[in-house]
Amino acid sequence: MKVKIRKGDTVEVISGDLEDKGKRGEIIAVNVDDRRVVVQGVNIRTKHQKQQQTSSGKTINPGRIKFEGPVDISNVMLVCPKCSSKTRVAVSRDEAGAHRVCKHCQAMID
Ligand SMILES: [Zn+2]
Repeated sequence: MKVKIRKGDTVEVISGDLEDKGKRGEIIAVNVDDRRVVVQGVNIRTKHQKQQQTSSGKTINPGRIKFEGPVDISNVMLVCPKCSSKTRVAVSRDEAGAHRVCKHCQAMID
């Protein structure tokens, strides 16, 4: 199956395993090989940062850093920018190439 989700798309979390179910956010990274995506505001993890010196002599202050962890691509569904429903996408081809089409409202998403 080809990955039809791209960076900049809005998706909704559909998996029941994640506490973020129902949350919507923008895709900030896609890892096609791992079939994982990073979604803004979803799967927030906290990393404890120790005080460190960088090689250039700068001090990094200790503290907690929040960051988005990757989620499996099957746990999210594209939100159509036209009808705002979570939807599957069809791919239609014409002279200009392939376009993603919302199966809900038939709008072209690209
Ligand atoms: Zn739509």
